[in-house]
Amino acid sequence: MKATIAVLPGDGIGPEVVGQAKDLLALIAAKFGHEFTFVEGMIGGIAIDETGEPLPAETVAICEAADAILLGAVGGPKWSDPTATVQPERGLLELRQRFGLFANLRPVKTYPALVDHAPLRAELLRDVDILFVRELVSGIYFGDRQEQGAGDVSYDTMRYSREEVEQVANVAFRAAQGRRKKLCSVDKANVLASMRLWRRVVVAVHEEYEEVELEHLLVDAATMHLLTRPASFDVIVAGNMFGDILSDEASVLAGSLGMLPSASLRSDSFGLYEPVHGSAPDIAGQGIANPIGMFLSAAMLLRYSLQLEDEARAIESAVDAALDAGLRTADIAGEGEASVSTGEFAAAVKNRL
Ligand code: NAD
Repeated sequence: MKATIAVLPGDGIGPEVVGQAKDLLALIAAKFGHEFTFVEGMIGGIAIDETGEPLPAETVAICEAADAILLGAVGGPKWSDPTATVQPERGLLELRQRFGLFANLRPVKTYPALVDHAPLRAELLRDVDILFVRELVSGIYFGDRQEQGAGDVSYDTMRYSREEVEQVANVAFRAAQGRRKKLCSVDKANVLASMRLWRRVVVAVHEEYEEVELEHLLVDAATMHLLTRPASFDVIVAGNMFGDILSDEASVLAGSLGMLPSASLRSDSFGLYEPVHGSAPDIAGQGIANPIGMFLSAAMLLRYSLQLEDEARAIESAVDAALDAGLRTADIAGEGEASVSTGEFAAAVKNRL
């Protein structure tokens, strides 16, 4: 098949991991007989430096003409002055909102080869395989920006509509149907009106997916259950803020932020694929970033935007095989264990393809 992929490397370790993922996708194209065209654009701090805007119009045009977007990470100390009028992270929020990417999928899996180095007891971590579905373009992060108070009083508005909850709940139920058929919906229905609507709508949507077992958890309880019984979860659906916090908490289960991919989708096949981690300024430029989150994001791009399931699995299996062979970047190497560079790990994955 032919596909055009917008490539937005961004800042810090973004370009280091995106470059490797692009090479990996090119190898997939050659091996499976596809034609992928990569078109590069600027986003984040580098775009502010070059154009004054974190999401220049040219980048938007590149993304509009593409079948999917592959993104590294944005931000860094150079642009983190809170009084600055433009922040790199705005570029990412604008991108998600402009393209209506309402469902953020974040799979969190533990690898048998890594559980002994994790901060939780190994027996709790065995067989953890959770898919977070986070609502991404509404809720408190997008509440009314005109009226947020001033001086000593300010506020943010948590707002959800029936349609917004319905569309993300449908994505979550469908995902559960294709997995272990369990969905946990997280809310704060005991305190917040918007979250009572959330629960009512999830219960109503459930009627179309009766074979999926539905559980509700209040967000405070969910934070504990995630650490005490992580292997019991299949799909977890949550609003924007709760999904943000819970999926970062769950990243501890996988051993490193560098391991985790994400996909941000709308109802057609278009999507934005990026690792969960940020630009990691503390290790940028050293060639030691873990490329796994980025590689698994590229696999999600093949699966969700291009419907290339075998090709996606080929990447996932090659990553598993490299880990099984004992290759570790510094963030996942145990004490006294040797580590490899980004390039060496990437080469090992490519060899196994
Ligand atoms: P971060 O994810 O960049 O880094 C947190 C820690 O994890 C650091 O110690 C880092 O070295 C490590 N880490 C992250 N990814 C890694 C990888 N692939 N391999 C090895 N180690 C890795 O989060 P932060 O330090 O809170 O934020 C740094 C900058 O990134 C900030 O400007 C922040 O706003 C931005 N950020 C961007 C995104 C995004 O682009 N989606 C997400 C989060 C943070």
